[in-house]
Amino acid sequence: MIEAGKIWMDGEFVDCEDAKINILSHVIHYGSGFFEGVRAYKTPKGGAVFRLKEHTDRLYDSAKIYRTEVPYTKEEFNKAIIETLKINNLQKGYIRPLVYRGYNALGVNPFTCPVNAMIAAWKWGKYLGEEAMKQGVSVKISSWRRLAPDTMPTMAKACGNYLASQLIKMEALEDGYEEGIALDYNGYVSEGSGENLFVIKNGVIYTPAMNGSALPGITRDAVITIAKEFGYEIRQEGIPREMLYIADEIFFTGTAAEITPVSKIDKIVIGCGQRGPITEKIQNRFFDIVEGRAEDKYNWLTHY
Ligand code: PMP
Repeated sequence: MIEAGKIWMDGEFVDCEDAKINILSHVIHYGSGFFEGVRAYKTPKGGAVFRLKEHTDRLYDSAKIYRTEVPYTKEEFNKAIIETLKINNLQKGYIRPLVYRGYNALGVNPFTCPVNAMIAAWKWGKYLGEEAMKQGVSVKISSWRRLAPDTMPTMAKACGNYLASQLIKMEALEDGYEEGIALDYNGYVSEGSGENLFVIKNGVIYTPAMNGSALPGITRDAVITIAKEFGYEIRQEGIPREMLYIADEIFFTGTAAEITPVSKIDKIVIGCGQRGPITEKIQNRFFDIVEGRAEDKYNWLTHY
């Protein structure tokens, strides 16, 4: 069970066991919430939040897509995130901010319901397991597709979207895989249940473009920056399924998954069957920056 200590709820800290909302809240019935997953890392200078500004910007963008006004300024929200880490004595951990439609009425119309917010933080290790960071994970191409572009917006990190992710994840686990990748509406590769995807072939790095029904990942953006720094060619374009099978290296990116190599897809061994050399180079650089061993030249870290 998650031990989240004190949770920030609409401006006040509440013990985790007392952090409750009404069962008739709109979000529970209709998925009307927007959230973030943020990580803090321990650096030689103390705790540091990775890309706090970008996470808060995306949270507000997700709410905006759904015509929802967050009742706090971004500065207030950022401050509350830092306070949540501090009050829970976390030098590193995972942070979950959530903005949601609360308790008033239960028609589909969300406008009549208040907009509430919460922030929790707790310790969370490697999402797909410590070993996976080197050995990679075994992945299945899901029989479920990602949301079609004119259905539910995938640029919003909205609670309801994660029903699609759950179908992908459950199918993969039930079939004996560790993670699932879904294709988009046009049949091109989209993303994992909670991760973006990178594919390396002949020294070129590919990732699905923003019209591939994937979330605009903040780790994805960091990896693109790091890969460019190393001089790699990055192509953001439609990736056919079979290109995964013949790739030299594949890895997932995400706040939870960080940079996790993929060892097999549909039981076909990818490249050397574990973390490849380019993945390792990018992974090392990523951890050097977030853990404060390398210069933070892009101002990705907010120290606290
Ligand atoms: N896609 C989905 C569906 C996700 O849930 C996540 C995790 N937030 C990502 C991609 C990766 O995004 P980020 O790097 O911003 O965590």
